[in-house]
Amino acid sequence: MRPVEDTYRHKGLRRKLVDTVRGKGITDERVLEAIANIPRHFFLDSAFDEVAYEDRAFPIGEGQTISQPYTVAYQTQLLGVKNFDKVLEIGTGSAYQATVLAAVGAQVFTIERQKKLFENTRAFAYLKKFPSIKFFYGDGFEGLPTYGPFDKVIITAAAPHVPEKLIQQLKPGGMMVIPVGIGDVQQMRRITKLPEGVVKEEVFDNFSFVPMIEGKRS
Ligand code: SAH
Repeated sequence: MRPVEDTYRHKGLRRKLVDTVRGKGITDERVLEAIANIPRHFFLDSAFDEVAYEDRAFPIGEGQTISQPYTVAYQTQLLGVKNFDKVLEIGTGSAYQATVLAAVGAQVFTIERQKKLFENTRAFAYLKKFPSIKFFYGDGFEGLPTYGPFDKVIITAAAPHVPEKLIQQLKPGGMMVIPVGIGDVQQMRRITKLPEGVVKEEVFDNFSFVPMIEGKRS
């Protein structure tokens, strides 16, 4: 069961979480404000109520996790979202990252490969507050060619390599933030498609994500 109440205690814990995330180096005030405003405990089973505002990943079923708030903030900050940016997210999971993107002004297109998680998210009433998020069941390696091109692409699962089709769906000048690696640890990379079509790659810190897997799961 999902919790439905957002109490003063929850709000206080969110402010502490913002301090923690800021202390780890996040400086983008819009991102910090999104974390202060979005009730993360709504995205988890009520069994996690006591711990929902710890800066950790938690299980959301189907062997998947809601990302650590610091990781969500880090990726969102790297993406440099501007108002009305069209952002493609791979790995909807709990939809927490999608709501943070929407809160910083993005029009979000998010894809989940696991049917159960997709259905669970569709039934999550709180998300009605975010009409700028569109949910898709599909394989993120394919992207969404009919809805592209996108200003930004964010991958929230460990990618074995940078998917070529997702580069193609980026606008010239567009950016992708993607954790790349096949072991337990991945390197966060930011890929910029320069206007001439040349691709620039920057490498950032190491993170640990669940794997990005090819194909849909029913
Ligand atoms: N952004 C999520 C993090 C979820 S974990 C959140 O905020 O909660 C990563 C998710 O990526 C999992 O739900 C997993 O099922 C999904 N995933 C893995 N490979 C995928 C693919 N090829 N296409 C779409 N989703 C994928």
